[in-house]
Amino acid sequence: MKKRYIIPILLILFAYWWTVRWNYIVIHHSAGGYGNIEHLQKVHRERQSRDPLDAIPYHYIIGNGHGLGVGVVKSDWRQSFNIWGMHISRHNFDRNFRGLGICLIGNYEKQQVPEKQYQALVKLTKELMKKYNIPISNISGHGYTKGEQTKCPGKNFPMERFLRDLGR
Ligand SMILES: [Zn+2]
Repeated sequence: MKKRYIIPILLILFAYWWTVRWNYIVIHHSAGGYGNIEHLQKVHRERQSRDPLDAIPYHYIIGNGHGLGVGVVKSDWRQSFNIWGMHISRHNFDRNFRGLGICLIGNYEKQQVPEKQYQALVKLTKELMKKYNIPISNISGHGYTKGEQTKCPGKNFPMERFLRDLGR
C-alpha cells in the first residue's frame, strides 16, 4: 500500500468507529414535570455550564405529555454527531463516552411512569441494543449504576420490569 493512503484510511476507520462505538445505555428522568428539547437546553445551560457543548446531556428524550407528546422521542445535535454524553458522573467515564443517555421527562420519585412513555422507552432501548449490539448487562438506570449517588430515574421507575421486558 502507498504510504500516502495510510492516514486517510485511518481517518475513515476512526470515523466509522466513532459512529458505532456505543456500548452502554443509561436511563434517566428529568425530575421535572414539564420538558422538551428547548426546556432541557435551558436547564443544561444553567446547571452544567462547564460542559463545553451547548447541547442537552442526553442522546434521547421521551415526552410525558407536558411540553412534548407522551411517548414522543426527540434528540438534538449531541446525538446527530455521536458526541459523548454528559449524563452520568466522571466515576463512570466510559458510560459517558460510549454510553447513550435516554431521559424520560417527568419526576418518577413522585409520579408514576405513563404506560405509553414506558412502552416507547422499551421500543427505543431494544432498537438501540440491536443497532449497536449492546448486551442487556450494559443497560442501567442512572442511580442503579455502581459509583453513582442519585435517585434518578426515581423510585417509581420499574427497573426490574424494564430489564425483563428488554429480555423478551
Ligand atoms: Zn440521571
